[in-house]
Amino acid sequence: MVWVDVVEPCESLMGGSVASRVLLREVANGEVCEAASGALPAPPAMPKLRVEGLAKQYGSVDALLPTDLTVASGEFLTVLGPSGSGKTTLLQLICGLTEPTAGRLLIDGVDHTATPVHHREIGVVFQNYALFPHLTVEENVAFPLQMRKLGRVELRAKVARALEMVSLDGLGGRFPRELSGGQQQRVALARCFVFEPALILMDEPLGALDRKLREAMQIEIKRLHRESGATIIFVTHDQEEALALSDRICLMNQARVEQIGAPREIYESPGSIFVAEFIGISNVLRGRVESAGVLTTADGAFEIPSSFGQPGHEAALVVRPEHLEIVPGNGLVAGRIVESVFGGAETRLLIMLPSGAVITARRSGGETEMHVGETVGLRWASDRARLIRC
Ligand code: ADP
Ligand code: MG
Repeated sequence: MVWVDVVEPCESLMGGSVASRVLLREVANGEVCEAASGALPAPPAMPKLRVEGLAKQYGSVDALLPTDLTVASGEFLTVLGPSGSGKTTLLQLICGLTEPTAGRLLIDGVDHTATPVHHREIGVVFQNYALFPHLTVEENVAFPLQMRKLGRVELRAKVARALEMVSLDGLGGRFPRELSGGQQQRVALARCFVFEPALILMDEPLGALDRKLREAMQIEIKRLHRESGATIIFVTHDQEEALALSDRICLMNQARVEQIGAPREIYESPGSIFVAEFIGISNVLRGRVESAGVLTTADGAFEIPSSFGQPGHEAALVVRPEHLEIVPGNGLVAGRIVESVFGGAETRLLIMLPSGAVITARRSGGETEMHVGETVGLRWASDRARLIRC
């Protein structure tokens, strides 16, 4: 007797969309009888956005290579990457300011590849605020509602609420030039959130602000995201900002997605040396698999799992500073402290290995102080080192 799971399409009770029903069928003596057909499982939530093979070329330049991406409803996705990696291009393709060379784009399951920008109902916030200089704060925030022909009473109530959300109530009569950079960015946020878009794109919105203000605005954006329930795609080149804000990070490099995952996953399991070096500090020891279980580098041979790679393969050991221990004796490799950078809660030590490579270790406040010029032994737990094929 065998139980078989059969997935059959059927009409769901929700909005007539197609769901799947799992029927358990008993197959006995060649006879099939339906034994149970339990309650309908919840249909998989429709992603807010799907990008399929989306690409953009400018002449012979690939601004974005064919890219697939799915963003869940209510998710905070950060697109992170160095300058020129295609972040803005991806965002402009999604909001419709740029036409794709190939691929398509679905919002709530509907193909919007050819929908004009003003019909996509997407909120956008740019780095340079893009406020209207001749309009007051209130008029700037009211603009998207006027475009949607909202009645006067409702419009005034929504503008007041949006200004309150970004702590600008009382400043509605001012012109943008009468505001600080941080206040102007808040106006831009209010103008975006005021029409309650379900999908919001932000292109380096905090790039022009100083560090303190940027951190305050990060908290503000997190709160706005929580309160609005909107799906947000946020572009930055600042890895700390990405780690602090995101449900997931989409890391881009040279016009393509290099890795996508939760911040912790990307930090702890970088899939490439580029990712390891872009997110946080990484110590990278490059080498070659000499024989099964041995990686030979310019700073010595290290034990690796024997199942990793074939002899001759190029690979790198990646160890985060917090996993590097300073030990008496030579440890796995010895080096000389060449710099000690005091940072309050911890001190960063730069240690030069025999090959001349400089790696970073951390000492917390309670540990014995170490000095430039000292030679130290270093070790790491094997399960804390990540091996990456080059
Ligand atoms: P990022 O936002 O990550 O800094 P962009 O998406 O702006 O990167 O740019 C990606 C690549 O596409 C860059 O090499 C850039 O020079 C090129 N590019 C972007 N826009 C244009 C354009 N309008 N014309 C020509 N090349 C462009
Ligand atoms: Mg950009």
